[in-house]
Amino acid sequence: MYKFIGRLIQAMALTSSRKQRLSLISPNETVNSLSEIDLKALYLAKKRGIILDLDNTITPWNQYKVNHKAHNFIHNALQLKYKICLLSNASRVRTGKIAKLYNLPYVAAAFKPRKKPFQQALQLLNLENNEVMVIGDQLFTDILGGNRINCYTILVNPLEEKEFIGTKLMRMLEKAFR
Ligand SMILES: [Mg+2]
Repeated sequence: MYKFIGRLIQAMALTSSRKQRLSLISPNETVNSLSEIDLKALYLAKKRGIILDLDNTITPWNQYKVNHKAHNFIHNALQLKYKICLLSNASRVRTGKIAKLYNLPYVAAAFKPRKKPFQQALQLLNLENNEVMVIGDQLFTDILGGNRINCYTILVNPLEEKEFIGTKLMRMLEKAFR
């Protein structure tokens, strides 16, 4: 995983301009919480699908309980006829259990920001990249991965401070780019 991230940072450093590099980790929108996302407006803008992160976006890190705002968000999105696919670096067991609560497709153990799992999620949604938004709490996994496949990207504030040690390191790195 860290080898991969190292390669990725190297590749980003080699992209021609600073502007280009920053655009890869710049979300289209930044919100404090999922409840701030205007699902109706996005639907009018032809968005039909959501690739949704798990840890610290809809559940506290490494937990099964979906946060109440996230629960309402998923419920509203499904009512508006959005398709949702969970995409997480977490285990199949936990991701699968949470996906099952809402009967959602999912891609787990994804190693975001690799492109492949994002492409798998698009396939499961059966939608084109310009119809899909990627929502998550991390610049270097969710936003970078979503931008790499040209989806609309939305960064949300993480639900809790508690997280995987690797994520903590990534956040320190993120601060340098915000
Ligand atoms: Mg996350």
